[in-house]
Amino acid sequence: MNIEVVSVGELLVEVMREKVGQPLDTPGTFVGPFASGAPAIFADAVAKLGVQSGIIGSVGKDDFGKLILERLNQDGVDITHVSSLKDYTTGVAFVTYFSDGSRKFIYHLPQAASGKISLDQIDKSYLSGVKYLHIMGSSLSINEQCQKVCYKAVEIVKNSGGKISFDPNLRPELLSVEKIRQICQPVLSSCEVILPSEDEAKMLTGNKDSLTACKELLNFGPKIVILKCGARGSVVFTPNEKIEVPSFKVKEVDPTGAGDCFDAGVVVGMLRGWDLRRVAKFANAVGALTVGKKGPMEGTPNLDQVNHLLAG
Ligand code: ATP
Ligand code: MG
Repeated sequence: MNIEVVSVGELLVEVMREKVGQPLDTPGTFVGPFASGAPAIFADAVAKLGVQSGIIGSVGKDDFGKLILERLNQDGVDITHVSSLKDYTTGVAFVTYFSDGSRKFIYHLPQAASGKISLDQIDKSYLSGVKYLHIMGSSLSINEQCQKVCYKAVEIVKNSGGKISFDPNLRPELLSVEKIRQICQPVLSSCEVILPSEDEAKMLTGNKDSLTACKELLNFGPKIVILKCGARGSVVFTPNEKIEVPSFKVKEVDPTGAGDCFDAGVVVGMLRGWDLRRVAKFANAVGALTVGKKGPMEGTPNLDQVNHLLAG
């Protein structure tokens, strides 16, 4: 198997409030479990877009772990480097949405299997031929062990000629902004492309304007910054260019996972050697198709669906 893209980090199930506006501190109904975890959603989307992907991470030996692994395997993700740990339960995230579009999470991750990825899982021979390694800030935020695992994977892939894509995917619920900046720095300085949302670009730089923040991010190491602007699409920044790429019009049912699938679209487009406008347009289509279904990984589109929207 020729694995071109690998992600490393948390695999978890997501359990979500059935209706908008139900806080997590009162009794009410939930739906799920849905397969989730930003690195898992990313790897799933890459495979469905026709590029062989793999993921390094951990689940518990329980039915939630089984649900995630069966889903990834069925979609074509290589799961040979996912450990099933008998002493830990699979990670869980509870999420609720509010009518202003904001959301709130409760994570059961650092003490669960998600937070117990081992350095032994970072297999040099597995990572050496990889063209892109995708790192998520959410994985760096879990605990120190997860940081070490990610940094080691970055080092191996960089040393063997591969590239790093980085989604800051900041979860201020898990860590302070100062700490987030500090732990992101080693990946920021090594990455080819960074894929922030507007809030993340502002948080990482301390700049209040997201467009200026993206220009500043280029000074931190990445060659390319692609800003994700939700329903408005995306903006590509290189030292010489700024390219605004409009989104596709779709009905938004559940925005979770759009960013991770967008990342997958970018990496697949870069691997095909497309120009950056085409890469961003393709990724916008992947992101737009993701928001149409409830559940973080339920809307992950395949290549035919993306091509259909692009041709539309
Ligand atoms: P998350 O962290 O929840 O996965 P994000 O904040 O990282 O998301 P978004 O900007 O919400 O990322 O979404 C990524 C991309 O998906 C956008 O840049 C856009 O191309 C597409 N997208 C997201 N929401 C919509 C929408 N409502 N309509 C059309 N396209 C969308
Ligand atoms: Mg995101």
